[in-house]
Amino acid sequence: MSYAPLSYEFVAPRQIAFGWGRRTDVGALARTLGRRAFVVCGAPALIESGIIAEIGDWLRAEQVESILLETIVHEPEVADVDRLSDVVRRHRPGPGDLLVGVGGGAALDLSKALAAMATNTASPTVRDYLENVGRGLKLTAAPLPLLALPTTAGTGAEATRNAVISSYDPPFKKSLRDTRILPQIALLDPELTVSVPPSTTAASGMDAITQLLESYLSRKAQPIPQALAVEGLELALPAIVEAVHDPSSRRARESMAHAALLSGICLANSGLGMAHGVAAALGVHCRVPHGLACAVMLPAALRVNRQVRQAQMARLSHALLGVSDSASPETAVETLIERIETLCRAVGIPQRLGQIGVRPEQIPDLVRDSRGSSMSGNPRELSDDALAEILEQML
Ligand SMILES: [Zn+2]
Repeated sequence: MSYAPLSYEFVAPRQIAFGWGRRTDVGALARTLGRRAFVVCGAPALIESGIIAEIGDWLRAEQVESILLETIVHEPEVADVDRLSDVVRRHRPGPGDLLVGVGGGAALDLSKALAAMATNTASPTVRDYLENVGRGLKLTAAPLPLLALPTTAGTGAEATRNAVISSYDPPFKKSLRDTRILPQIALLDPELTVSVPPSTTAASGMDAITQLLESYLSRKAQPIPQALAVEGLELALPAIVEAVHDPSSRRARESMAHAALLSGICLANSGLGMAHGVAAALGVHCRVPHGLACAVMLPAALRVNRQVRQAQMARLSHALLGVSDSASPETAVETLIERIETLCRAVGIPQRLGQIGVRPEQIPDLVRDSRGSSMSGNPRELSDDALAEILEQML
């Protein structure tokens, strides 16, 4: 083996609290961050089921005042962040304040952006803080601390240091990125995911699997996240079908929630690849939800990178699927890819871009807008022509 110098950094939430039913700890945990909490809620169902009211009660029991901000039901857009950061700023946020984000990746990313915009007031719009689209402003003040309480198992946004913000006019999907928006506390209660519908469980679960695989294979792959990715995949590959078809399975829900958390830690440190690069463009131009877009692209992303990452993919195949050490690397890699394709089919993920609304004339736009930071982690360098050909073959 050739020698490669070891040099890395690793970031993760300061505290991770994980366990069935542990949402009751939200008050005591929030109390360690402040006395007044702005609460971001990711779905009306969380209000209807009484969970948000309960969270307010648990906060109050620990002398934490709560202010419920608007509920959003879509991936956050520039206008959502700007409207809500105006609301937060009017409360004159400062020391002693915190954000509590409750919901899926969209709500958690919105919370991170609001935590930053609450204390960084050089611009009224978050656009100026996004990568490559605004004035390129940096955060100068520390964001408000954030407690993230995910209610889906997939994006791992409770453990990442970017907030993905969309715009449709002009079209872009870009990140606000800063290590200080990483949630201080990630509180995971897998019981909250029991009520997530099967299609969302499938798409978000495949997003986690995509994040684990892409971060493991990334050009920016790091040693600690690689070890965590193997653990995440060991849990998620057997559990995702059970979570989709038997929604109340505690074992499956715990496995998927833990795997999703690990996938967030992995991507925050190691970057991603082609599936996530294209998924951003599919979100902007075809309004495909993030998890579904990643899931549709995952098999193609593995095939694209199989030559340049044969050793790593073979290693995963041996570790995860028990493929014999005597099998050729080609066979081991093919077994891994076929396993992922089988999983996608078993949880109802479409195989063709046409099935998720992509039209042939959109391919040039998709190619152009796939070139974000995710794509920069893709192991194989892809020309525009090569990417266009991959997408055309998937129509
Ligand atoms: Zn993702």
